[in-house]
Amino acid sequence: MKVLKFGGTSVGTVDSLRNVKRIVDSLEEPAVVVVSALGGLTDRLIATARAAAQGEDSFRDDVAGFARRHSEIIEALVPSDRRTEVSATVRGLTAQLLEIYTGLSLIRDLPAKTLDLVVSFGERMSSVIVADILENAVHADSLEFIRTEKWFNRDIAARQLTDSLISEKIALPLAATVVTGGFISRDKDTGDITNLGRGGSDYTAALIAARLGADLLEIWTDVDGFMTADPRIIPDARVIPDMSFIESMELCSYGAKVIYPPTIYPVFHRNIPIRILNTHNPSAPGTLITDSSDSLPADVRGVSSVKKTAMVSVTGSLTANVAEINSRSFNAMARNGISILLVAQPASDAAFSIALAEADAGKAMEALRAEFAPELQEGSVREVSLETDLTVLAVVRESIKEIKGLGARLVNTLQRYGVDVKAVSDGASETTIAIIVPDSDAVRSLRLVHSACFSGQQAQ
Ligand code: ASP
Ligand code: MG
Repeated sequence: MKVLKFGGTSVGTVDSLRNVKRIVDSLEEPAVVVVSALGGLTDRLIATARAAAQGEDSFRDDVAGFARRHSEIIEALVPSDRRTEVSATVRGLTAQLLEIYTGLSLIRDLPAKTLDLVVSFGERMSSVIVADILENAVHADSLEFIRTEKWFNRDIAARQLTDSLISEKIALPLAATVVTGGFISRDKDTGDITNLGRGGSDYTAALIAARLGADLLEIWTDVDGFMTADPRIIPDARVIPDMSFIESMELCSYGAKVIYPPTIYPVFHRNIPIRILNTHNPSAPGTLITDSSDSLPADVRGVSSVKKTAMVSVTGSLTANVAEINSRSFNAMARNGISILLVAQPASDAAFSIALAEADAGKAMEALRAEFAPELQEGSVREVSLETDLTVLAVVRESIKEIKGLGARLVNTLQRYGVDVKAVSDGASETTIAIIVPDSDAVRSLRLVHSACFSGQQAQ
């Protein structure tokens, strides 16, 4: 049994939905199909909520537009005997949405809980429609089985409860294909509508695939698979045919936007392969993600990058005490809920640097200055300094250390072309060499690194 997830662009137009129908209707056995909201709709739902809360009354026209977009799809693709019912469902949902927006415009406020409710309508509408477009498919309401719990103000999947509810609501073996909405959920304690975070439909599909022990999780999107780099920056980037779970996690956490990062863990844990496929080019083989890293080609798997990175550095003699500086800095970050992108050795010695999101930089500076206040006084820490407008380039492959001298070679190449390499993290991770460069040099650096990795100049 397969779980197939179709993203917003796959369900966004009549033409792409025709492809979805072709893909699912030709499966040999029933499957679970998870869908996103129609492409771009989640953003629109949010924008309309903000406008309504500011007292603008464009929300009426907006809701009429949303309703029209869905009914055009129903008219074009749902067989006539099923149209009345699905149209009534969508009409009911858009009427509720209009009431919520009206409420927002009256109270002139947008509570987080209400925004979660508003964004849920996208997947609630798309999923009932897709169920009726497909041959022999039934709709299952994911609000009945995906549960979240609060974790530091965020909603995260409540795995145990979700697992048992999935088994309760989706009976195996499947009698027919089951279509459900991704992304949306309910809080396990309050029953309020919540979600798994932007891009979270992938994660819904992974939770279902893992629980039901699917043979394969297919993520249908609008690109041919994971690429060796972002093709908008590197025109000769190519599709990576095979990669390991770890490599895909690493590329995603360093900026590759192919799948929502939390997606990989549940299926990895159950060893269920993921295939990334293109709805607009269904015969392309895509990227297969498995745990068989041994049989993968020896070269670098891919290069990704994260802009808007900052680097906080501690300089002074204390940095010679690696264990102490590491543990105290990490703890200071953890206590303040700051996530660290990586630890790097700056080009200058006697310093210890942490790369993190620019948005967290101020908080990180404060935390480190407080942590090292005694040492700043007494002199073994000279200063805590900050550099912003940086990009992290991540060069990814499992056991990357086996490619001898790769980090040094890449840094040399960049420096030879005049790139001001700020720091490098080579050897700290089994999977990634990270190089920090100024944002202004990011594109050029990515090109240099990509061609050094993929133009046959590789070591080995
Ligand atoms: N519709 C949601 C979003 O746009 C979830 C998803 O598409 O995965 O973020
Ligand atoms: Mg997505």
